[in-house]
Amino acid sequence: MENNSNCIFCKIVAGQIPSNKIYEDDDILAFHDISPLRDIHALIIPKKHIASLADTENSDAEVLGKMMAKIKDIGKLVGADAGFRCIINTKEVGGQEVPHLHIHLISTKDGSCVGKMIG
Ligand code: AMP
Ligand code: ZN
Repeated sequence: MENNSNCIFCKIVAGQIPSNKIYEDDDILAFHDISPLRDIHALIIPKKHIASLADTENSDAEVLGKMMAKIKDIGKLVGADAGFRCIINTKEVGGQEVPHLHIHLISTKDGSCVGKMIG
């Protein structure tokens, strides 16, 4: 698996930094965010180092599709069956702090709305 030795999420993939894992397969990993914004806050990442959604290659389409297709299962595993919000901050302008592509999955345990940023 291609990874970047300076990347915190690559270190999580490699088991060099601990994480609270939710789901893992050959291509993707989901774990709980260390500073949750709501009572449910998971991160879904490709195991391969992709810096951001602005740094993908055509050959990444399969893993990107897998991340999207698995979100519903990961949502169920964290108790977000009623719904959730997904956010992909992209590069500094988009508010991305960790330069390894990740989808934030955010929800609430009491069924209240996570809050709206758009719309
Ligand atoms: P972003 O601002 O979109 O790059 O989001 C990065 C997210 O990674 C933030 O929500 C952080 O709380 C989270 N984060 C940073 N380090 C860790 C870690 N070691 N384990 C879990 N989540 C982390
Ligand atoms: Zn990485």
